Parts: sequence; C-alpha cells; structure tokens
Amino acid sequence: MEYQVLIVGAGFAGSEAAYALARRGVRVGLLTQSLDTVYLPFTPLEEPAPEGSLMAEVGAAGTKGWELHARAKYRLEAQPHLHLFQSSATRLLLEGPRVVGVETWEGPKRRAERVVLALGSFLEPRLAIGGVVEEAGRLSEAAYPDLYHDLCARGFAFAEQEAEVPAQGGTPGYSVRYKHFAPGEWDPQTFRLGRLEGLYGLGLCVLGQGTYARMASEGLRLAQDLAVELG
Ligand code: FAD
Repeated sequence: MEYQVLIVGAGFAGSEAAYALARRGVRVGLLTQSLDTVYLPFTPLEEPAPEGSLMAEVGAAGTKGWELHARAKYRLEAQPHLHLFQSSATRLLLEGPRVVGVETWEGPKRRAERVVLALGSFLEPRLAIGGVVEEAGRLSEAAYPDLYHDLCARGFAFAEQEAEVPAQGGTPGYSVRYKHFAPGEWDPQTFRLGRLEGLYGLGLCVLGQGTYARMASEGLRLAQDLAVELG
C-alpha cells in the first residue's frame, strides 16, 4: 500500500494526527484541497496547546493565522514518513466492505491501509457574509460537494451546525453552516465510522463543534490509538 494511513484534511485535527503518526514511523499521506490553508485558524489561538503537540511547537495564545500556518506547514513538509500534498478527495475507494483509499478530483487514486476523514466545516457548507451566500468552509476556500454526496450515497447520516466568525481588522464577520456526521455514525472511543471497515472520523466533522486545542488533542489521541493498532 502507498500509505499505512491516509488522512483527508490538513486542519488542526488531521495535521496533528499525521505529524504524531509520522514521528512514530508510520507512513502517512496527508491530502488536503489547498496547501495555502494548512493548519489555518479562523481567529488567533486563545487556549494553551496540548502538551507534545505540533500546536505547542508552532504557536501560543495570540499567534495569528498565517504565522501559525507557515510554521506548521514547514514542519509537516520536513517530517520524514509524512507526505503532505494538495488534492481533493471526491469518493471513497472500496474493496468489498473495506475502505482502501480515496479517489481524487485530479485523477490519481490514493491507497492506504486506513483512511481518516478530518474534513472540518467542509461538508456541504454555506458561508454567509453580508447578503452573499457561498459554498465555502471558510472565507476564500470553496467546498466541493463530491465527497459529501458519496458519503450520503453510502448511507451516512449528518446533522447540521452553525458557527460565527467576528469581524477582524478590515474583514467583516461571517457565519458558516455546515454538516457533520450524525451521532451514532461515529464511535468516540475508537474514532471508527461504523458503516465501513478501515474508515475513521476526526475533528470537527465528527464532533460538530469544539476549539482548536480540542481538535489538536483529538488528533494526538487518534495517532496514539492507530500507532498501537498498526503495531
Ligand atoms: P479544519 O481546520 O476545517 O480542516 C479541515 C481541512 O480539510 C480543510 O483544510 C479543508 O480544506 C480540508 N478538506 C475538506 N474536505 C476535503 C476534501 N474532500 N479533500 C481534501 N481536503 C478536504 N474554534 C476555536 O477554537 N476558535 C474559534 O474562533 C473558532 N471559530 C470557528 C469558526 C467557524 C466558522 C467554524 C466552522 C469553526 C470554528 N471553530 C473555532 C471550531 C474549530 O476549532 C475549527 O473549525 C477547526 O478549524 C476544526 O479543525 P479540523 O481539523 O476539524 O478542521
């Protein structure tokens, strides 16, 4: 297999898990739709970072978005066993009931022993700013519907949540309404998305809400569990 673990989404949860797994020697693919938004918060960090996390290496309370993004991306790209790359996952790749990778909008299929979805607020989001509504998971980052439709077709159920970003500097405030996996689809102990084998959910797309530090802690917890599972 190309990777032992393929993580879709290089936000706080996915990046943290990828970094921690790679540091344990696990071969990880970290696929994300834009390298310009890796590890990018909506607002500066406020909470202390979890001990031993990538977040603790690159930020502290008050660290601003682009600073955090640039430092984290540098470390992720420099980490042995970790392949960070830009691509959009459009469908799960299955062999029988087992997920063995993803199909991508760009064409190449990406194969792995385990697939982790860390999609944040990008499942059918609607971003409202003033009177304008866009299909975007954050400001200036469009969301594409393919993977959400594929998950719906495979029977997954979703709930809806909304979060607001206050006006900052010259940028007006906006809100994002997004889907997340419905409770019952995901096991908080094992991270498994129960309908299919080899598939895990991580971060906002399964929790529905929470802070950046919580997402980072969840990434660390998943890495610990998966590293044990993979031996
Ligand atoms: P994200 O950080 O959103 O990362 C997900 C990544 O997955 C994105 O980079 C996206 O490009 C990628 N992706 C999605 N689909 C695909 C695909 N099909 N193929 C490839 N890549 C894909 N928490 C706070 O502590 N403070 C705040 O101020 C705060 N404000 C928030 C405001 C809003 C509008 C929202 C929605 C949430 C906010 N949160 C806040 C909550 C939460 O901490 C953040 O959403 C956090 O970014 C979630 O981390 P994550 O890793 O789960 O997802």
